[in-house]
Order: sequence, then C-alpha cells, then structure tokens
Amino acid sequence: MKRADPRRALPSVDAVLRAAGPRDAERARFTRAARDVLARARAARTSGDAATFAAQTRAALAERERLTLRSVINATGVVLQTNLGRAPLSPRALAAIAAAAGAVSVEYDLVTGKRGERHGHAARLLADLASAEDAVVVNNNAAAVLLALAALASRKEVIVARGELVEIGGGFRIPDVLRRSGAKLVEVGTTNRTYARDYAGAIGAKTGAILRVHASNFKISGFVARAEGRELAALAREHSVAFIHDLGSGTFLDTSRFGLGKELTVGEAIREGADVVTFSGDKLLGGPQAGIAVGRAESITALRTHPLMRALRPDKLTIAALLATLETYRDGTAEKELPVWRMIAATPRAIATRARSLAGTLASVGIPAEVIELRSTIGGGSLPEETQPSFAVAIGGAPPNRLAQTLRSADPPVISRIVDERVALDLRSVLPEDDEVLARAVTGALAKGGADGPSRHQNGPRAGARRPV
Ligand SMILES: *Cc1c(COP(=O)(O)O)cnc(C)c1O
Repeated sequence: MKRADPRRALPSVDAVLRAAGPRDAERARFTRAARDVLARARAARTSGDAATFAAQTRAALAERERLTLRSVINATGVVLQTNLGRAPLSPRALAAIAAAAGAVSVEYDLVTGKRGERHGHAARLLADLASAEDAVVVNNNAAAVLLALAALASRKEVIVARGELVEIGGGFRIPDVLRRSGAKLVEVGTTNRTYARDYAGAIGAKTGAILRVHASNFKISGFVARAEGRELAALAREHSVAFIHDLGSGTFLDTSRFGLGKELTVGEAIREGADVVTFSGDKLLGGPQAGIAVGRAESITALRTHPLMRALRPDKLTIAALLATLETYRDGTAEKELPVWRMIAATPRAIATRARSLAGTLASVGIPAEVIELRSTIGGGSLPEETQPSFAVAIGGAPPNRLAQTLRSADPPVISRIVDERVALDLRSVLPEDDEVLARAVTGALAKGGADGPSRHQNGPRAGARRPV
C-alpha cells in the first residue's frame, strides 16, 4: 500500500529538453534552467510530465532574462533621481556619444599625429567655466574626492568639521573614503558649530589638507556656525597645506535665479581660494556620470599623475557627453538645452497646462484623473529641503500601491509618487516632449482592463475627474 514517491514521477532533464526543443543558441541556458525547475519540483514533492516542466522552464528562463535596465518615465517630481540615473542627457550629449562610439581621437593629437591627452578634451573648457587653472575628470565625484585626498594628503592628517562628516548615500561616507585614501581624519568643532579657530588649533606639521564637504542631503538649522571658505583658504595657504572643497553637486548656474536657495557655484568656490574643488557630472551639471576636479595647476597635476588615476579614468563616451554638456554652458544655452535645467526652469503655469491636458486624456478613456498642486524637489544630493511649485495628475480608482505597481509595468514603465494616499504623476520631472509617451503608457496600462487598473469603473470619469485647477 506504499504510495508512489512523486520524485519518481519527475521527467529527466533530457525529456524536458526534448519536449521544449530549445534553439541551439539557448540550449545550455535552457538546460541549467530545467535543472533548477526540476530540483525545485523535487524539493516541493510535486510532479508533472515533461511538457509541464518544459513550459515552466520557458517561463523561468523568460523571468531570468527579463530586461531590468529599461528606459522609464520619471514622474516622481524629483528632477535628479539617483535611482533613475540622475541627469537625463541632452540631445547634444546623445549625439556626441554616438559620434564617439567608433574610432575617436580620445588619446590622439590630430595636429602632431602623436599620442594625445585623454584629459585635455574637457579640461580646458572646465577650467574656463570655473575660472580655474586646470581640471581633471574621473568616473564619479566619490572618485574625485578619493583621488584628491590620495594625491594631496596621503599619510597626512586631513582636518574636517564634525558637521561635515557626512554619508552621501549608497554607503559613501566621508570618514571611510578619507581612511581609504591613506589620510588620517582629524575632526574639529561640534556637530552644529565649527569656527576657523578650531581648524587653526588642529593644523600642524602632520596636516596635509583641510577638507570642506557640502551638506548635500541634509540641513542643520538653528544655533549653527561654520568657517568661511575664505578663512579656510587663508589658513591652508599660511600652513602650506591643501584646501579641498567637495561641492557635491556643483553648479555653473546661480540656483537662486530659479526660486531655489543659493548654492555656491563652482566658480565661487574657486574664487574663495580652494586648491581643488570636486563635483559630480550628473547632478546639477546635467551631464553624464563623472567626477570633476578643478583647481590650481600644481594640485591638478598631482591628481592627474597619481597611480590611482589609471583606475579612475573615464571612458570616451563619458568624455564626449561631458564635453557636449559643457559646451552648452560655454554657449549660454544650458537652460534651454539641458533637461535638468529645463525641468528646473519650467514655470508652474506651463506645468499646470500640461497636467490639465494629461488629465483630460486620461479621463476621456475612463481613468479617474485630477490635477493637483504640489511641490517637487531637486534630489540627487542637491539643494536639500528646497522645493519648487509643481502640478501633478492624481489618479484614483484603485489602491495607490497597486496603481503605482501597474504603472511600473507600463510600456515604458512610469515611476510615480504617492501624495495624500493617491498616485500622482508630477510633471516637473517629465520633459514636455515626453508627455505623449506618458499618456499612452498610462492609458495602455490602466485602460486595458487589467485587474489592477481602475478601468473596471468604465462609466466615464467619476467625481475624481473634476479638475479644480
Ligand atoms: C553626491 C556627492 C558625492 C558623490 O558623488 P558621485 O558623483 O555620486 O560619486 C560626494 N560628495 C558630495 C558632497 C555629494 O553630494
């Protein structure tokens, strides 16, 4: 009366392969996936015939090979969303990447026919824009900080204010980077107040540099004090040590012109007297992921000739995109050309008009949509707590988490935000030329009658579709 062991009933991998008939090119991957599927069935004591497991293997393989890096629509209202790749590139930068993809004079001097300088391309333009003597480009700003510390303060002490020992995100902590560079951290001051005299008291024969770190993602308010950049620069010069200023985002444009708080520009940081100023390529600069160091010729040479440089150098596509981005600042067209600045410069009135149009489109296919007023943020470690007025299309008809999930499965995926228990599509972080794609993606996902969508309420716009704005 023994019951048959269900494991006995499992077909062999070969039988599953015969039932599935994979193409030659996928045979090896298919075999591995079939083994996994059968092992799981064995563990779960389930059984089935070869055709069943062939179908399961197909599904497992499709799931495993599902494209995870996809172009999405950022309707979060966060202009620089780190998880969504920060700054979207301009058409000029995209064209430059395409042009540089083939053979390109990245380390070739077209005048002499000899080996050229990879760093020369962007360095001149960067130095001009920052009114600095020289510049060097690496993979990201974390690398620029690491390189600056390694080149200018290795085995020496680096003085940092306690209020500036920050974690940027993704585990990037200034004290850790400092240690990895071979420098020794010397903390001065208190969390909320640090004076120039605190630095002066700590500076000595073992000091290699003073490091200032921009508070990118938090704000300390109330009883606070910090030393002026000029004071730190003077102190550093007096003791012949380097003054390194990590700006984080780094901007060439005055953010206060856009109703935002004032950020020190790269040029201003140089004028304060920093030896090296570091910043990201893909934050407010609006270009590709890169780390930029500008400053005194002697200091930048020390960075450029450091052995770490070879490990941190950017690829030709990054250089091409960065150059094209910098050209817009040179030409005075950054605000019109760079997506980041176009989004920041968009007027609430223009965003409201677009939101009304999108809400109308959605309502016309029975999706309960309403224009709401809200505030968007810059994000990406720039301008903490600064917001801009914006407008969004709030969607009702289903629980917000479920709606947000359905929108993520749209084509292209739409990343929304949740405001007052409703899914909202904040148009500040969407370029106007993408409005149509956004409308089509949302209607495609929500009006197709999926169980997740609100389209079961197909009786035209509900009360929610009234548009008060
Ligand atoms: C963002 C940021 C960094 C890291 O820059 P990445 O380009 O992301 O490597 C370093 N320092 C500060 C102050 C930042 O805001």
